[in-house]
Amino acid sequence: MGQLKLASVTKNFGTAKVIKPTDLSIEEGEFAVFVGPSGCGKSTMLRMIAGLEEITSGSIEIDGKRINDLPPVKRGISMVFQSYALYPHMTVYENIAFPLRVARMPKDEVDRLVLKAADVLKLRERLDHKPGALSGGQRQRVAIGRAIVREPQIFLFDEPLSNLDAALRAEMRVELSRLHSKLGNTMIYVTHDQVEAMTMADKIVVLRDGRIEQVGSPLELFHKPKNRFVAGFIGTPNMNFLPVRCTGTGEGGVTVALPNGGGATIPVPPAGAQAGQDLVLGIRPDDLRPAGDTGGLRFLADVVERLGNQAVIYGNCEGDATAQICMIADGAIDIRPGQALDIGFDPAKAHLFTAEGDAFDRQVDLRALAALA
Ligand code: ADP
Ligand code: MG
Repeated sequence: MGQLKLASVTKNFGTAKVIKPTDLSIEEGEFAVFVGPSGCGKSTMLRMIAGLEEITSGSIEIDGKRINDLPPVKRGISMVFQSYALYPHMTVYENIAFPLRVARMPKDEVDRLVLKAADVLKLRERLDHKPGALSGGQRQRVAIGRAIVREPQIFLFDEPLSNLDAALRAEMRVELSRLHSKLGNTMIYVTHDQVEAMTMADKIVVLRDGRIEQVGSPLELFHKPKNRFVAGFIGTPNMNFLPVRCTGTGEGGVTVALPNGGGATIPVPPAGAQAGQDLVLGIRPDDLRPAGDTGGLRFLADVVERLGNQAVIYGNCEGDATAQICMIADGAIDIRPGQALDIGFDPAKAHLFTAEGDAFDRQVDLRALAALA
């Protein structure tokens, strides 16, 4: 139970087409994360699933049953919002019990469900407190408790950790992953933070401008992004994108001229590439190395962040200020702002895109990646 299917779902607000025709399946027990920049339509998608927003066209099914016209309470879902929306004058117990009281559930049953949720969320000691006496993380757990007691088929979360500080957010991510393995329900989680998507999701749905750009496991999206948008959105720090020119193609892949003189052959099927074409080379910051390897770049550093075991170095290709580079290096690397350094990369780890942003197909063993999930 808890399988969700969207077919050709759209949403217009007046003349604004906020969700373009969307098809999506989320399997029973899956932790799906909708991720994308602010305004791309994540909350609208979630609110349509919840029934808080009418869909303009298409259909939404839960467990094979069309629910387009069902009111929110009849859909078997619970939603947790960014603003915890707790009642300040009620205790933690009463806040968690609230939806059960509204449903006129017998007192014993309310008690059993509230205590069960409080155990799962480590709130047993806090049941008599008012929300004002709780930390942000505890308040968010109360809001989650209120969702749990309804024993929904599907949990919907809309940026539930955005109001928490960085340390607490990291802690709550782990707690939510644990909660998911404990409850086993389908969860759909919306965030603009790709780290939350990467760390918690079984399936990531990347949205841009009301459209799904790509659906896949975190590692699939990381290693085989379909386009430059997904490549730039997933992974931290962001992938570097360098303007390159194709100088030839062959069995070994696509050979490109790098911004300052060197060249590299990227091992991708060269279909569609031809000499003279402008392309975009994508290299992740931790795939750049001082000298060595192949594919030479001359890197002029301007900011060096030393984090201890790592240094994050920002700059550009020497002589080309438009070719910005971020590189992650050993914490003890000998470099200062204003200095240049020869760097290289393993072409097998590089990504290649057309000028329009479509990715050349990388040869990645997806089955090996799936085995890690
Ligand atoms: P996200 O959650 O990804 O930040 P939203 O789903 O909230 O994005 O919004 C998507 C787009 O729809 C935005 O451009 C927003 O301005 C617009 N929008 C959302 N709700 C309404 C509404 N009730 N009326 C008109 N436009 C809306
Ligand atoms: Mg939103």
